[in-house]
Amino acid sequence: MESGIVFDIRRYSIHDGPGIRTTVFLKGCPLACAWCHNPESQSIGPAGLYRRDRCIGCGECLAVCPEQCLSRGEEGIVTDASRCVHCGACCGACPAEARELVGRSMSVARVMEEIAKDETFYDESGGGVTFSGGEPLAQAEFLLALLRACGHSEIHRAVDTSGLADPELLGRVAEHTDLFLYDLKIMDGGEHRRHTGVENGLILRNLQMLSKLGARLRIRIPLIPGINMDGCNLDEVGGFIAALPSSCPVDLLPYHDWAKGKYSNFNLPFLLETIAPPQEAEVEGAVQRLRRFGLEVGIGG
Ligand code: SF4
Ligand code: SF4
Repeated sequence: MESGIVFDIRRYSIHDGPGIRTTVFLKGCPLACAWCHNPESQSIGPAGLYRRDRCIGCGECLAVCPEQCLSRGEEGIVTDASRCVHCGACCGACPAEARELVGRSMSVARVMEEIAKDETFYDESGGGVTFSGGEPLAQAEFLLALLRACGHSEIHRAVDTSGLADPELLGRVAEHTDLFLYDLKIMDGGEHRRHTGVENGLILRNLQMLSKLGARLRIRIPLIPGINMDGCNLDEVGGFIAALPSSCPVDLLPYHDWAKGKYSNFNLPFLLETIAPPQEAEVEGAVQRLRRFGLEVGIGG
């Protein structure tokens, strides 16, 4: 039985596709977006979480760590990530539940057990399951097995993707997907690389391919002041989407900094310290600008 690494399963989601949904978050992502809300999802393996506000400073974790990669610092317990082997000993020893390993191996059957719990809600609300991440195609065979299993149970399937995937794999995934939530971020290749760590050529070609195949798509665009909200980028995005072989609606997702605390919890640098969420008028301006291309544009998921 196929298995993969899952870092969260969220029930009663209403922002990841139509109706009431269960969102399954798979670990691993080839991008490293500066605004990522799930930075713990980027590595394929488990990620160590430290909640400083819960730590009582007892030192139990330091005593049990086999790699001696923990030390006391001004910000509480500091982890030398280069030496951590994710054994989980510190999490088990912590009396305050301040330490946790995020990401666990689950079989398809086990994930389907969780999904099946809310089948009644899916039927009543026109909902289903959304596979997100990370980038769900980073675990393509696991994703395909989950999509097939949902198909057998006649559960609506959405895939939330960055689009950075092997085209052949993406084509196979499309055969078992009812809706793609497809992220578009920045049109300029250099700027895209600067803020996400990768080029966007393949992402754009894959979107064209899916549109040509007739896949059902919703484009999702994060709106981040100072990064992709300038008129030039919005016009390029609008022109690109309007020229796709089949029309698809656009959801704008205004940036917020709710995930900021996660970065320190996971011992990761937060790069958008100086960026504030967009004003309502700026978001409305982006909506109007994209509508000029004849697109159906809304805010949120
Ligand atoms: S997970 Fe293991 S190696 Fe990493 S800090 Fe905890 S005890 Fe040390
Ligand atoms: S074991 Fe937990 S509470 Fe104790 S110092 Fe380590 S992280 Fe803090």
